[in-house]
Amino acid sequence: MATMRLEIVTAERMVYSEDVDMLVAPGIDGQLGILPNHAPLLTALQPGEIRVDKDGEENYMAVSGGFLEVLANRVTILADTAERAEEIDIERAEAAVRRAEERIANRTSDMDLQRAVFSLRRSQARVLAARRRRSRRGDTMAPPRQPS
Ligand code: ATP
Repeated sequence: MATMRLEIVTAERMVYSEDVDMLVAPGIDGQLGILPNHAPLLTALQPGEIRVDKDGEENYMAVSGGFLEVLANRVTILADTAERAEEIDIERAEAAVRRAEERIANRTSDMDLQRAVFSLRRSQARVLAARRRRSRRGDTMAPPRQPS
């Protein structure tokens, strides 16, 4: 089966570099599905989840924004921040969601609001990506015990 190279980089590190079967990314105008041999493309990204299919497995990542380029069967994502699902500290992301929600509720100016909304979307994307990984592993909460 045809594959394409996917590289996700931030200013700090290479987050992901693999040959993959398919990619779904949060384009600025909506979800973007990319298959091997896609036409050249350059677009901005919004905060959200990246889904990567590789060897029959779905992998999830969170991205806070940046740019996606497709050229010569290679997809490059230059991300502001990006984390693979297994790297995400879900408690930290949930705390960031709560902080941003509080700042939105108690906002004092438009500037605060815009920053808080972006912070909320970033942290929500992290929570979603981390939860998907947990549920895929069947690692959810144990069912309630039956009374004996
Ligand atoms: P927080 O308020 O929890 O610090 P933040 O949204 O302000 O979150 P960013 O400024 O977007 O954090 O990211 C700073 C660095 O921390 C980046 O390298 C990012 O990849 C990493 N990071 C942020 N949140 C998490 C998380 N929940 N788990 C793992 N890494 C994270």
